[in-house]
Amino acid sequence: MRIIFFFLPFFLWADGHIFLYHRFDDFRHLYTNTSTKELLKNFKYLKEHNYKVVNSKTLLKMAKEGKNVDKYVSFQIDDSFKSFYKNGFPLFKKFHYPFTLFVYVKGTDKHFGDFMTWKMVREVKKYGDVQLHSYAHPHLTTLTNEEIIKDTKKAFNLFTKNIGYSPDSYAYPYGEYDKRVQKVLVNFGFKYIYNQNEGGINKNSSFIDVPRIALTGDVDISKRLNIKEMDVKNFKLIRDKNKILKISAIVPYKKVEVYITKLGWKWIRTKNGYFEYTPNFTLKNFRNRVILRYNNEIYIKMVTKVKRVNYKELQ
Ligand SMILES: [Zn+2]
Repeated sequence: MRIIFFFLPFFLWADGHIFLYHRFDDFRHLYTNTSTKELLKNFKYLKEHNYKVVNSKTLLKMAKEGKNVDKYVSFQIDDSFKSFYKNGFPLFKKFHYPFTLFVYVKGTDKHFGDFMTWKMVREVKKYGDVQLHSYAHPHLTTLTNEEIIKDTKKAFNLFTKNIGYSPDSYAYPYGEYDKRVQKVLVNFGFKYIYNQNEGGINKNSSFIDVPRIALTGDVDISKRLNIKEMDVKNFKLIRDKNKILKISAIVPYKKVEVYITKLGWKWIRTKNGYFEYTPNFTLKNFRNRVILRYNNEIYIKMVTKVKRVNYKELQ
């Protein structure tokens, strides 16, 4: 047994993780807020347990090269809220922890009250990576390709002018995307694209569909550090407009738990890992998740309702 135990860790490497924050000590917005008390607790936990904090690109590259990223984490902050600058940023500096800040360009450029100014973003840039989070923070899946390009161009140009370099990374507003949206942004030139689905970073991680674990409220980071990306092959989701007809995939287990927002969890048996699930379920929310789970392994897909809005409303 001892010999087996000695060799096993090579195959049992856990994943690395990217944690996402939005606001700090802004208790008006509980769903997107993290208290600095909680942040400090998380930072101390990582320090005491010898986790290394690196830039997200470094983490992704290390994982791709087959390095053990088990003890590596990375931090990101969306929306460039002033509360990060005021409350979160000083702690990151104190711990010498790098981070990536995704700028909501309209909020910053038009001096919306809650958002950092370009001057603040430039100050933050000395300590972390600064990247792009759209111009108008639109619901991307509701836009045409041309509208997505228009929003991105505007954001890209203002960002480059004010920050001094061109962003190579993009975080989806609200974490909403689909294959079409992803393709438009890849063609635009982004090398790293981040979603907001829970998951882990390992050798198989795609640089253009990177999962991030949002930490808000009271969170026990030790549990989140156990999350592992499930090795899923041939994932297919068939829908008829807003109805999910069938989900199929190959998973490494005899059964798997499948979740759809507002429908809930269901155990499904597999045949040699293959399963088909025909929920015939009409989506209730605009933003939905399909999750495959087994123990601490998960695989998540975002599904948004088909909906068109007038782009003029977003300008
Ligand atoms: Zn956002």
